[in-house]
Amino acid sequence: MLLVSDVEAIILNLVQPLDHQQDIEIVDLLSADNRILATPVTSELDFPHWDNSAMDGYAVRYEDVQHSHEAQPANLEIIEEIPAGYQPQSTLQSGQAARIFTGAVMPDGADTVVMQERTRREDNRVLILAAPQPQEFVRHKAAFYQAGKQLLPAGIKLNPPEIAVLAAAQCSQLSVYRRPRVAIFSSGDELVTPDKPLKPGQIVDSNQYALAALVKQNGAEPLLLGIVKDNPEALREAISTISSANAYAIANADIVLSSGGVSVGDYDYIDQILESLGAKIHIRSVAISPGKPLTVASFPSSQSPIYFGLPGNPVSALVTFWRFVQPAIKKLSGLAQGWKPVFVKARSHDELKSNGKRETYIWGRLHLVDGVYEFHKVGGSHSSGNLINVAQTNALAMLPVGTTLIFPQDEVLVLQVG
Ligand code: AMP
Ligand code: MG
Repeated sequence: MLLVSDVEAIILNLVQPLDHQQDIEIVDLLSADNRILATPVTSELDFPHWDNSAMDGYAVRYEDVQHSHEAQPANLEIIEEIPAGYQPQSTLQSGQAARIFTGAVMPDGADTVVMQERTRREDNRVLILAAPQPQEFVRHKAAFYQAGKQLLPAGIKLNPPEIAVLAAAQCSQLSVYRRPRVAIFSSGDELVTPDKPLKPGQIVDSNQYALAALVKQNGAEPLLLGIVKDNPEALREAISTISSANAYAIANADIVLSSGGVSVGDYDYIDQILESLGAKIHIRSVAISPGKPLTVASFPSSQSPIYFGLPGNPVSALVTFWRFVQPAIKKLSGLAQGWKPVFVKARSHDELKSNGKRETYIWGRLHLVDGVYEFHKVGGSHSSGNLINVAQTNALAMLPVGTTLIFPQDEVLVLQVG
């Protein structure tokens, strides 16, 4: 049984990111949000594109107004009005000002903007009631970004701020990594699809739906391969076709997720089948609760997907996805960093218990109380087979190996999920 941190390292070591030349697609800016940039972006534009005003006010020559104050204001002639979007027509001479608005181009000869609240207008003249700082309220050409430098690096997720930057830089088409393909199947004779009436002993294959939703949430494409019976022949057939590296591979997947059949029960065949197909098993079980039985395997061909055999218990499948599969998808997707889960410190509202032997995850909700995170354990059974009370939770409190008890009000590390 391996420690969680070792398993995390082994998995991240196994994952090769998508190729920045082959595994890309060109998308329009409007559909680029949440995608991962594959090529660095540079722009031929300076930001700002020209010296412009940061305020509504008057463009002036600093030397004309540097001694201004309420009792002895500089008195300047207004020679022009410059709204945003227009090219100034004149050059300011000594004793002159231009009415200017936020974002408008500074006229030649002016070096400073006096905000209108510090002026008094008298017909075509303006009185400057307080001396500004030199160059105050001028946004200088190229002060934010110089044309030709790198604007955005490869390997970042395009969130709304990056989309805004790309729009401003007139980048309408972008090279992004293709979505990782994740094949999903479930194994178990008791499983049926949600549309079927349940016969005695049957349950719905909820994991397939949960995993598909998780895969999509992580920017990857789920390929749903259905339910495979708990017999070695059926499983062998499924795993060999999904995982083979030849042109007939069903999914051409980057990752395969199965759930069920990796435990030590008489019908748990996945590990032995993987081995018989030449796969190398890197992980068989992890010191984590829930989620101890977890298989991670790779095939000899570098074209073959990485195989994750997740436990069948629905909460175990969720927890092992969040803890181990999610970082793998993030690295594979081309993200340059930020693969590992982020834990936040929280105050526990409730008593939390573990046997101390495995890293234990307890599901609940994270609330902000007076600016401090507070973890509330959800009521109901915390059995890994109980899917029902996971609904409406958004966090997992983590008790490390060796910790058996967290008292109410004690600090606990929490993983935000969902
Ligand atoms: P296993 O890992 O195959 O021993 O399954 C452990 C438990 O999870 C059993 O109670 C199964 O019925 C249940 N289970 C297995 N696969 C699924 C699935 N796809 N959806 C929901 N429950 C499952
Ligand atoms: Mg089973």
